[in-house]
Amino acid sequence: MADVIVVGGGIIGLTAGVRLAEGGASVELWSPVGPAETVSAVAAAVWFPSRSEPDPRLVTWAGVAYREFARQAEDGVPGVRMLPTVNRSRTDPWWAPATPGVETRFTAPACEMEIYLPWLQERFTAAGGRLRKREITTFDEVPGDTVVNATGLAAGRLCGDLAVYPVRGQVVLVRNPGLTTSVRDEERSLYVHPRGADVVLGGTFEAGNWDVTPDPAARAAIVARCTEAVPELAGAEIVGEKVGLRPARRGGPRVEREGRIVHAYGHGGAGMTLSWGCAEEITRLVDLDNG
Ligand SMILES: Cc1cc2nc3c(=O)[nH]c(=O)nc-3n(C[C@H](O)[C@H](O)[C@H](O)COP(=O)(O)OP(=O)(O)OC[C@H]3O[C@@H](n4cnc5c(N)ncnc54)[C@H](O)[C@@H]3O)c2cc1C
Repeated sequence: MADVIVVGGGIIGLTAGVRLAEGGASVELWSPVGPAETVSAVAAAVWFPSRSEPDPRLVTWAGVAYREFARQAEDGVPGVRMLPTVNRSRTDPWWAPATPGVETRFTAPACEMEIYLPWLQERFTAAGGRLRKREITTFDEVPGDTVVNATGLAAGRLCGDLAVYPVRGQVVLVRNPGLTTSVRDEERSLYVHPRGADVVLGGTFEAGNWDVTPDPAARAAIVARCTEAVPELAGAEIVGEKVGLRPARRGGPRVEREGRIVHAYGHGGAGMTLSWGCAEEITRLVDLDNG
């Protein structure tokens, strides 16, 4: 019997699984699907505590994750890079509307999840972690003294947590015309994130919408808005499109222990941004059991 069973194999379950397994625990990770089919694989996956409510926990977790991703980029971890970023805002400072726009520049970690999640999964198994293709309908089906609940949006149903809701996001992938700087404008739900061969154009932010079918009108609007913001995108070939349901939660992520279950869900639009910090917190909560 494993010391810990992590239910959920998105960015939150995988990073927690890695930390626990590398810390010496015997860990099983349960998920009905591989990493490519999770919401985490849809993420533009650029570090930014997007649309989160002010919360000191998030500052700590996002800080830990920032440093970890920066280290990984330095070490050449596949799919991880530090991305120069321009944040365009029209609401802060107060006099911003008097200008054509105010820009903040910083460097943000970014991941290509198609590459990074499989790497994480391999790191988990290399540390002795075991993968099980399992879907649960209740936590009563999960044996053992310690269970991590990293089921994302499904946690709402599994835990009867009415604060959990989907925030639909649609993104468009275009061939990279040579961009190297990320541009974002939170007020317009706009982002342009260059990766290797492609650029992620976003996006939509639709609270309460469960529809995972791409919407052609949204696609056209995203391309038009992004091209207006970054004219070099004009005519770039569309090479893909994705829709995902961000696991949002009123009151912010739930990361706490309840009996034998350590809950870790509700990361909304910032799961990658908070991942390694949350994994540390989950490890601490799991350790409480043994201490
Ligand atoms: C368009 C879009 C863009 C985004 N961009 C960013 C970004 O730039 N930066 C950022 O930080 N975040 C971003 N996000 C948010 C990020 O994707 C999420 O916060 C993150 O994926 C949540 O991870 P998770 O592991 O909690 O959930 P998921 O990735 O959804 O993983 C949940 C896991 O639980 C499993 N599971 C579910 N139900 C069951 C069950 N009954 N039994 C067993 N297993 C189950 C699933 O199969 C899956 O393995 C974006 C999201 C979207 C949609």
